[in-house]
Amino acid sequence: MYRQQNLRIPGPTFVPQAVLNASARPMINHRGPEFAALLAGVTRALQDFLRTQNDVLTLTASGSGGMEAAIANTLSAGDRVLCFSNGAFGERFAAIAKSYGCDVRRVDTPYGQAVKPDHVRTELERERDGGRDVKAVLVTHNETSCGILNPVKEIAEVVRSFDRLLIVDSVSGAAAAELDVDAWGIDVAVTASQKAWGAPPGIAIVTMSERAWKAAETSTLPKAYFSLADAKAYLEKGQTPATPAVSVLIALQESLRLMAEEGLEAILKRHRRLARATRAGIRALGMQIFPDETYASPAVTAFRPPARVDPKNVIRILRDDYDTVIAGGPGKLDGQICRIGHLGFVTVQDVVACLSAMELTMRDLNQPVEPGVAVAAALRSYSADAPSKATAGSRR
Ligand SMILES: *Cc1c(COP(=O)(O)O)cnc(C)c1O
Repeated sequence: MYRQQNLRIPGPTFVPQAVLNASARPMINHRGPEFAALLAGVTRALQDFLRTQNDVLTLTASGSGGMEAAIANTLSAGDRVLCFSNGAFGERFAAIAKSYGCDVRRVDTPYGQAVKPDHVRTELERERDGGRDVKAVLVTHNETSCGILNPVKEIAEVVRSFDRLLIVDSVSGAAAAELDVDAWGIDVAVTASQKAWGAPPGIAIVTMSERAWKAAETSTLPKAYFSLADAKAYLEKGQTPATPAVSVLIALQESLRLMAEEGLEAILKRHRRLARATRAGIRALGMQIFPDETYASPAVTAFRPPARVDPKNVIRILRDDYDTVIAGGPGKLDGQICRIGHLGFVTVQDVVACLSAMELTMRDLNQPVEPGVAVAAALRSYSADAPSKATAGSRR
């Protein structure tokens, strides 16, 4: 029997049929007027959603390619860089900068805890007092590996006060969590099509502030395919330097259109509600939310199954018997946690379906789970979390 899969990993996310259909449209000339209109429209919509007037470049790459472009275009060999990390993606960002020859100091916060603005301040003061000229600060917005949303707005304030470049990996944060590129003063923000944007993988998105372009003028790190100056020059002609993933861009245009119908505020609110509902369901199963809940991510929920229950078994049973695909812990967290993605085109019905599968899975693992407890807790949370439609005066 055919059974549809409930894809609940934190990216690639569920892609609506309308978006998939868009990606199947006939190919177009990437040097022609239709492509120019497509690229201009996608760029404008991304500027709206990222709340920026800065240049937004779309690269044919995964999110990591966007992170690499951010480094290669703004920094030079030997530049002192502070990378604040509290998970696998922070570690990746530091590793990319290091591989390009930057003088990287990775400042670690334990997995599951947020990077604190005061910590950033203390470390920047220490660098300054030691006579080291920090060129840039790297930070992860939504640390997908452990389900933490770092307080980037407040971190940005600190970095601004030291007048340093701020480069943010918001690959899984943008469009799921608040991100105000211009108001917060973020120089470079990176995201990617397959996360909260609900499109297939293949397009990385990079914003560049005036200050970032200024840094780009003196940057000596090697760049060819990932030259953002080239990307900007071509964007002005309605093109990209090399052949782009045309079909993914068409899909992204469609997902941006669907997102505009809902509106950014409603999207962000939906993510917060779904995250709270998911956590309520997980707690009702007697499981522990992995990160400090004050900073729990609106995009992904990381949790520890009960002692004596192997997270890998939970993931396997969910997949094989209940067609529900969740993620394990990456890197050091492998075999320790499970992660449920609820970013992108996700509804409360999706969360409830996932939690119902969790209930059955825990029963299969001989855990004492009363049928319906997680589902009921999630629905209670979801219902308590917003005015009813009758009083709200608008849809969702
Ligand atoms: C997914 C993700 C990445 C990497 O993106 P790829 O598209 O897999 O290269 C980087 N950072 C964060 C926070 C992510 O969630």
